[in-house]
Amino acid sequence: MLLQNTERGLYCVAGDFYIDPWRPVDMAVITHGHSDHARPGSRQYLTETTGREILQVRLGADARIETHAYGETFSRNGVKVSLHPAGHILGSAQVRIEHGGEVCVVSGDYKLENDGISQPFELVRCNMFVTESTFGLPIYQWRPQADIFREINDWWRQNQMEKRTSVLFCYSLGKAQRLLTGLDANLGPIFLHGAMERFLPAYRAAGVKLPPTAKADADTVKSAEGKGFILAPGSADNSPWLRKFGDISTAFASGWMQIRGPRRRRSLDRGFVLSDHADWDGLCQTVEATGAETVWVTHGYTNAFARYLREKGIAAEAIETRFAGELDEEADKPEETPAAEVTETATEPS
Ligand SMILES: [Zn+2]
Ligand SMILES: [Zn+2]
Repeated sequence: MLLQNTERGLYCVAGDFYIDPWRPVDMAVITHGHSDHARPGSRQYLTETTGREILQVRLGADARIETHAYGETFSRNGVKVSLHPAGHILGSAQVRIEHGGEVCVVSGDYKLENDGISQPFELVRCNMFVTESTFGLPIYQWRPQADIFREINDWWRQNQMEKRTSVLFCYSLGKAQRLLTGLDANLGPIFLHGAMERFLPAYRAAGVKLPPTAKADADTVKSAEGKGFILAPGSADNSPWLRKFGDISTAFASGWMQIRGPRRRRSLDRGFVLSDHADWDGLCQTVEATGAETVWVTHGYTNAFARYLREKGIAAEAIETRFAGELDEEADKPEETPAAEVTETATEPS
């Protein structure tokens, strides 16, 4: 077996490197810069070229980061390694390793829709595939992002007519930048919570065209007289910070908005279903198209998805992960998905 699941994370024995390890190691190959994949403290990191800046922000200026471009094949202790677009966020990569006639691909997080920012997902054939399953239940089905952006801009316009500032919560890395590309900047000024500014330089440096933004403070937002739009992390919901902006309407953009619980729990005015992960059909199609005989399932509904794959004749198993979901992403995950919904729908043929 080319890969082992160890207490530090996925380990390539022949190549002597880890992929997205949870604990410090000598060589960490990183699929992308989300905090559940890129952990500090390793001696040496390796990632895709366009994701370098993000990783440096995440890990600190001292982190030693080696980069390789998508599709470039390089060798580590005789193991052939290459990185391939995962379509998840800027610089996100699937890791392909080949040794002794066996090909294994570790997906990291991935989505199939082209978001116009990250390099679009590339299907890589393999014998063994390690897939995420964050939204690995049939209830998760995404609509095209153009539709969602239209709804968000319509909501903004509606709020302006009622002189209410629009506040949209989302994850700071990936989702925030994606939303910025979809907002109609002609409608009014766009403001950012301080936590949202951290990764913007990396995106701008990579050539991603983002509209002008200003830091959200009471004066600038109020002077826009309800025409402004604020992007903020979910942790800012119900905070004192939020109360200084006067009359607001709140919404969240996330795959979790597909089900009612998370929106109701936060008492949001709107929920927009927009995810940087593959939906149920996307996961099923991808696993099948890789041609993999062996599949390891990580992150999310691992047991349900692995069971579904086994019923389709694929040798699939759920593997343990120390961290699951971007940490603030995890906080917004529904506390309980009805057990009946999980087991019954997941095993129905799709
Ligand atoms: Zn991620
Ligand atoms: Zn993740």
